[in-house]
Amino acid sequence: MKREAWDKIHIKNLEVFGKHGVFPEENKLGQKFLINAVLYTSTREAGKTDDLTKSIHYGEVSHFMTKYMMEHTFQLIESAAEQMAKSLLLQFEHLEWIDLEIQKPWAPIGLPLESVSVEISRGWHRAFIATGSNLGERGAYIRQGIEALKACEECVVEKESELIVTEPYGVTEQPEFLNGMLQIKTLFTPLELLEKLNEIEASAKRERKVHWGPRTLDLDIIFYDDLVLDTERLTIPHPDMQNREFVLQPLAELAAWYRHPVLGKTVRKMLEELKEKR
Ligand code: ATP
Ligand code: CA
Ligand code: CA
Repeated sequence: MKREAWDKIHIKNLEVFGKHGVFPEENKLGQKFLINAVLYTSTREAGKTDDLTKSIHYGEVSHFMTKYMMEHTFQLIESAAEQMAKSLLLQFEHLEWIDLEIQKPWAPIGLPLESVSVEISRGWHRAFIATGSNLGERGAYIRQGIEALKACEECVVEKESELIVTEPYGVTEQPEFLNGMLQIKTLFTPLELLEKLNEIEASAKRERKVHWGPRTLDLDIIFYDDLVLDTERLTIPHPDMQNREFVLQPLAELAAWYRHPVLGKTVRKMLEELKEKR
């Protein structure tokens, strides 16, 4: 869901005390900070039932921020904002996204300015990850990959497809593959997610010898929100997904209705077209 589509809860000018700053006296004496936050969530259920457990308790959020700013010391308000946004997103179940502004009134720069502030926007992204293996204990390597993602606090595995046995693609003289799909939510940027996946592949003893050659574990990013990205290291959506039944089949099990942001076709439609060509 797009950020604009969520409901919002505003917290305005929460006064907190903290010892953040690059000057030693700031870390010793401390000073006042002001926090503004917009919490993106769905208030619909809480609104209909008048039940607070279905929403985000802004009192708890405010206490959490007050405590967080007191208990941690950062040089930069950039770091304070970054770390606190992450902690809030991990702590509050219904919190999808947050705009967070930390304001430092009377920043000590020897000039008459009113305040300085940093504002960031952070939240959960949805991604689909294709899994594949055709060496050794294929199922065990894939499970190891899934467990590693589950162990990472920035990622939550929301759905897992069945694993299917498929014929090798591209380089056909190699063992059969086991393929599957994961739906995750993640706080990582696309590049951070790729790095995490590469790290997990490496811990499954993946060696990159031949492109499209045999491998213990392959983890590819298929979709990341509705993002379209073309860089040297990363292309999203995965550029060849529409031609791969071993990607579309397990993906259709999780999200047949998902529409490719460039081709404009749903996963179900792409799978049908590919099967017709066969
Ligand atoms: P293919 O990407 O065609 O399935 P492959 O998975 O065998 O081939 P790898 O050797 O695993 O290819 O990856 C080569 C490089 O592809 C990675 O180092 C990575 O930088 C890049 N890459 C580009 N887009 C993606 C993506 N969406 N998901 C994963 N890797 C990607
Ligand atoms: Ca691949
Ligand atoms: Ca890959």
